[in-house]
Amino acid sequence: MTGIVVLGSTNMDLVAYVAKAPQRGETVTGREFRTVPGGKGANQAVAAARAGGEVAMIGAVGTDDFGGRLRATLEVSGVDTDLLRTAEGPSGTAHIVVDDEGGNAIVVIPGANATVDHLTPGDETLIATANALLLQLEIPLGGVIAGAEAARRHGVRTVLTPAPAQPLPPELLAATDLLVPNEHEAALLAGVAEPLAAAEALLRQVPEVVITLGGAGSLYAARGMEPLTVAAPRVRAVDTTAAGDTFVGALAVALVEGRPMPEAMIWASTAAALSVQRPGASSSMPYRPEIDAEAQ
Ligand code: ATP
Repeated sequence: MTGIVVLGSTNMDLVAYVAKAPQRGETVTGREFRTVPGGKGANQAVAAARAGGEVAMIGAVGTDDFGGRLRATLEVSGVDTDLLRTAEGPSGTAHIVVDDEGGNAIVVIPGANATVDHLTPGDETLIATANALLLQLEIPLGGVIAGAEAARRHGVRTVLTPAPAQPLPPELLAATDLLVPNEHEAALLAGVAEPLAAAEALLRQVPEVVITLGGAGSLYAARGMEPLTVAAPRVRAVDTTAAGDTFVGALAVALVEGRPMPEAMIWASTAAALSVQRPGASSSMPYRPEIDAEAQ
């Protein structure tokens, strides 16, 4: 396989839209309910597959109805799910209340994702054949570290999205080639808010960093070179959900194809800008022809 393996989460997002979120003990009538397939792992897998990558996902869905839908969502976008396990019990779910001011409150229940705390021999064999391994932090840290260390053993490039934000253990940092935090995650990990300073601090722990800056674009820093900033295309954003995952998925595809980082970042920015102009999470992610046409 010359491609991308994603080791990470699948979640069904259960989204309730209300005028005002209920307080403790209160019941309110909402306006609308949607089930949206997500999870950072699955989102990055879909983004990379739609961007033209050869992508396989390692993770787990549950034996409930959501499990089948989560798997199908990946397959429809061309992700290989042979090593996506079905674990007895519920799938991961995110219970999201969105109010009319756009504020949200979220409860995440890991479900099947909690079982992805180790690698099977088959997982390691697959990782060994890949060009890049994409990791996030929505499965147990033990699983993430096992994946990163397996990739390191086989000379496979690791790309870590440190979300949800949390301190990273040294053994994970030691096995990370490219860290892709957003501005807030970078500030938390580096202990300094200014992105350039944060990038410099992070370079003491990993060799390469891309910090995503929302509508302001992205910043690349690597040891021994001048940092580089790429502007985001100016677009009218209607829904930025999973913009970061779209960016990472497309970036990985470009890097695996051997394109240099500045070109890969511009292409990933184009993909992310397309996704923010339409509503939805993975459903808003662009396919390669759209990205290529826009990137002309
Ligand atoms: P999310 O959590 O929604 O997935 P994130 O916080 O991880 O996003 P951001 O830094 O907000 O990541 O966005 C990732 C990339 O998406 C940015 O670097 C940029 O290229 C693109 N992007 C985000 N918001 C916009 C916007 N308003 N206009 C154009 N591009 C955007």
